[in-house]
Amino acid sequence: MRYENYIDGQWCEGADYLTNLNPSDLEDVIGDYAQADVAQTQAAIVAARAAFPAWGDVTPQQRFDVLDGAGSLILARREELGRLLAREEGKALPEAIAEVGRAGQIFKFFAGEALRLSGEILGSVRPGLNVEVTREPLGVVGLITPWNFPIAIPAWKIAPALAYGNTVVFKPAELAPGCAWALIDILVEAGVPKGVVNLVMGRGAVVGQALSESPLIDAISFTGSVQTGQRIAAACLPLRKKLQLEMGGKNPMVVLDDADLDVAVEACINGAFYSTGQRCTASSRLIVTAGIHDRFLAAMLERMERLRIGNALAADVDIGPVVDAAQLRKNQEYLEVARAEGGQVHGGEVLELDTRGFFMRPALVIGTEPHMRVNREEVFGPIASVLKAKDYAEALALANDTEFGLSAGICTRSLSYASHFKRHVQAGMVMINAATAGVDYHVPFGGRKHSSYGPREQGSHAREFYTLVKTTYLNAGLP
Ligand code: NAD
Repeated sequence: MRYENYIDGQWCEGADYLTNLNPSDLEDVIGDYAQADVAQTQAAIVAARAAFPAWGDVTPQQRFDVLDGAGSLILARREELGRLLAREEGKALPEAIAEVGRAGQIFKFFAGEALRLSGEILGSVRPGLNVEVTREPLGVVGLITPWNFPIAIPAWKIAPALAYGNTVVFKPAELAPGCAWALIDILVEAGVPKGVVNLVMGRGAVVGQALSESPLIDAISFTGSVQTGQRIAAACLPLRKKLQLEMGGKNPMVVLDDADLDVAVEACINGAFYSTGQRCTASSRLIVTAGIHDRFLAAMLERMERLRIGNALAADVDIGPVVDAAQLRKNQEYLEVARAEGGQVHGGEVLELDTRGFFMRPALVIGTEPHMRVNREEVFGPIASVLKAKDYAEALALANDTEFGLSAGICTRSLSYASHFKRHVQAGMVMINAATAGVDYHVPFGGRKHSSYGPREQGSHAREFYTLVKTTYLNAGLP
């Protein structure tokens, strides 16, 4: 079946089509998805521009109705959309269904935010004046998303964009357009007016680049790799576009001598390997102090043996396939590099299962040193390395020894260490006795250093990006 782009209230044929395959079973074709060219992308931008004045002026109730309706439709179709997500991205079914649920809740949350948007009234320092601080929609936003959360990330960008009165041109990742298409179909059903949301599936270098370079787009919100983020920034900054970039991670999980071993192992297994390690918040560096190091390793390796790897749709599977052949190759290359640099690799074998797919065992690389590539570069696969630290101070220094700063975790029973770590680790999100991945939908999400640029996503903090602030001085002429 063919799936079209959605521009100015119409489903439109693409300049070309890309086949979407199931990474658990390459015989399973999900569909052919339209690929926009530059001209079609420009048409979507013009449509969003034309729709902006009216959508920017509708009542909060009208925005609430569309967003709340979309949230209800997503939640009602949670199981079916979860299957689609597991099929196209390879996330194990329970995680896929949970992600769809989260997308539904995000729409409900931002429906409420449309009603809650408030300003401030202050007295002036000058007699006779009052000061109002209000927020206005910022205009047309270009949204560019990765494949690894193919419904949650589009939801956490589209919902606030619409709640605060902006119009949208949305470009999902090439590898997972199915959930994006379904989400737009739902928004249409929920009554989003023509031109307010436009879907342009297609190649990053074509569609994404055209969005970044367009003077008719006021802001870009992007999630993806650092390299692409830098390219987008280079195109946007000369045009003074507002920018929000969420990029890679090399997230540390510190395990101290006094940690509850079971809690630490579960947090590390989940954080490092669930969703096949394909999470920007994945724990890819496990920093373990000397007193617990050997016991921790033994328990991790034993727990890894029990992980069930297989078809993402199967009931008894913990970890699905890697997303595609290129990522599987990249993962294996990193394991080779880690071996060559002196690390010992446990697991990581490519698996041949009943269906043809991109399966591999999760890998733990032990005996690593901070300078090794596996400790410096984001792999984006089910691979974690172990660094041994002599004490808490060294563990904290290692945690911060990275150009990234998205999420950081610590497993300890000590309130003092937990409190010190919370204050001094250089990350946007801190997890204490919990996996570095897995976040709530109603609070800010984002990082520091090379991981993020611009205001936070999600929660009421999303308004910092999706609105413009205006300060008004009012002389009412009263004595
Ligand atoms: P990617 O950078 O390859 O692609 C992301 C999006 O950018 C895609 O839609 C792609 O088509 C588009 N793109 C590619 N080239 C472009 C260009 N020149 N101009 C504009 N757009 C372009 O990333 P990916 O492989 O899809 O996703 C994996 C990456 O995403 C990892 O680095 C991961 O850490 C990151 N990620 C970050 C977060 C976060 O919130 N920090 C969340 C999820 C994923």
